[in-house]
Amino acid sequence: QAKAHGGGSYVLFEQQLHDQAVHRLELELDLRHAVERGEFEAYFQPIVALADRRLAGFEALARWRHPSKGLISPVEFIPVAEETGLIVPLGRWMLQEACRQARAWQQRFAGRPPLSVSVNLSARQLAHPELLDDIAAALAASGLPPTLLKLEITESAMMGNEGRAIEVLGRLREMGIRLLLDDFGTGYSSLSYLHRLPIDTLKVDRSFVTNLHANPTDRHFVETIVHLAHQLGLDIVCEGVEQAVQAEILAAMGVEFSQGFLYSRPVAAHEAEMLIITGL
Ligand code: C2E
Ligand code: MG
Ligand code: MG
Ligand code: MG
Repeated sequence: QAKAHGGGSYVLFEQQLHDQAVHRLELELDLRHAVERGEFEAYFQPIVALADRRLAGFEALARWRHPSKGLISPVEFIPVAEETGLIVPLGRWMLQEACRQARAWQQRFAGRPPLSVSVNLSARQLAHPELLDDIAAALAASGLPPTLLKLEITESAMMGNEGRAIEVLGRLREMGIRLLLDDFGTGYSSLSYLHRLPIDTLKVDRSFVTNLHANPTDRHFVETIVHLAHQLGLDIVCEGVEQAVQAEILAAMGVEFSQGFLYSRPVAAHEAEMLIITGL
């Protein structure tokens, strides 16, 4: 009886593995054509200055509008794109699109302080020999001033090739581009390593923000990071801010910028434009 049951769940498990493999293969095949077919969209999530709740800029986040499966999350397709190398053309497109959009807003809303745009870079992009040329081309084609472009890099994207990563980041910074260390707190970097990175901003991972108001350990962690960052001359962005109480605590700690569902989810460009017009 028990054996039959165990055998049954094994078959079920095998079936699930099979389905997952098929799904993954389909995703990979579709992804190969998605860039050429123009199936990607850049969504934009506001980044807010905590001191005065002013809109400071947006993070551009990739969305895939699949012809039959609907809108697919980057959590699903970015890892596949990264493994297959398709992240390089996809990332290039995101850079071009984010720069184009940010430049359009700069021209359309010339009266207000300019908005920055942040673009995520993956490990493959960082290691790619044409990255600097691609970025220079995206800036030139759009006319966006380099100081309005921010690039978000994770510690894991630099792992295994820190020397080269530091060199590339240094070149980007010489171009006037600002650099953020994304998902900070989830990686392994030592403090001395952090000191060597040519970055401007630490972006504290959402996992430390979620329970900030309830968990003293998380609060102390963020507090320590804020002190450290300011000692190193870095700004802080906290991501995953969903509640007003979290924003209040972060503002009191001296955190400069905040991002999260409290202000807005990532939205399509025309909705982001409404946020610029109406305010947050
Ligand atoms: P990330 O760069 O850390 O982006 C922040 C993610 O947190 C976004 O998820 C955003 O929607 C989500 N988020 C923002 N505020 C909140 C909040 O208050 N609560 C919660 N629960 N979540 C919040 P998204 O858009 O699904 O992107 C996931 C990840 O996919 C990104 O994490 C980034 O690592 C990657 N990604 C997205 N677009 C790109 C891209 O163009 N290139 C690369 N290389 N990676 C990308
Ligand atoms: Mg990011
Ligand atoms: Mg992040
Ligand atoms: Mg994150």
